[in-house]
Amino acid sequence: MRGHVELGDGVHQLTVQTGVNVVVLRDDDGVVLVDAGLDRPGLTARLARLGIAPSDVTRVLLTHAHPDHIGGVRRLRRSGSAASVAIGRDDLAVARGLADPPAAEHLGGRLFSRLPAPGAWGRSVPIPDASALEDGQQLPIAGGLEVVATPGHTVGHVAFHLPARDVVIGGDVVFNVFSLRPAPAFLCWRSAPNLASVARLAALGAGTLALAHGQPVTDDVAGRLSQLIADG
Ligand SMILES: [Zn+2]
Repeated sequence: MRGHVELGDGVHQLTVQTGVNVVVLRDDDGVVLVDAGLDRPGLTARLARLGIAPSDVTRVLLTHAHPDHIGGVRRLRRSGSAASVAIGRDDLAVARGLADPPAAEHLGGRLFSRLPAPGAWGRSVPIPDASALEDGQQLPIAGGLEVVATPGHTVGHVAFHLPARDVVIGGDVVFNVFSLRPAPAFLCWRSAPNLASVARLAALGAGTLALAHGQPVTDDVAGRLSQLIADG
């Protein structure tokens, strides 16, 4: 199936809209999604092709509170999912609709975030019942999942490490759209901590890096991430 890559036992990267991926974690307890894509069609149809109904999704873990990651939650729930939703503590107020994101350092980012575009930006759909994830938190998912704080793209961005599957889910710390790059500065809250987060991902030593934008990295993950840091 196009737009579908199996990254490990029960770990699937799934393209749900053009240029937007989610990760599907299947185990005996049900289905966990990492990110939910945009508030547009795509997610439930793609899940159906894997034999997954919305009601099978028990939990959504969000890497950060941007509309191309959290927007799909509302559609998923309208389609019959009772999934709980969790996000990094420092993005929680934004996800709940209680606060605006802190201003970006890059002028382009401050202007871009004010565009009324219905695409990846503009306002997020609030998720009032979202709960907080903490750095280092362990969840009993896919053989053990660890929350890894990776701030920079947003203030509360988190990645998810699955040591038993040798996979790390990196969200938007890096993009692999034209080439592997740190998230562009104009899309970030702050670039310097994002580069530190690239280093944090490299240090995990996982064999596969799943990404929200672009193909997963399956060869020399640590070496390629280290090169991005060296390139600064
Ligand atoms: Zn994104």
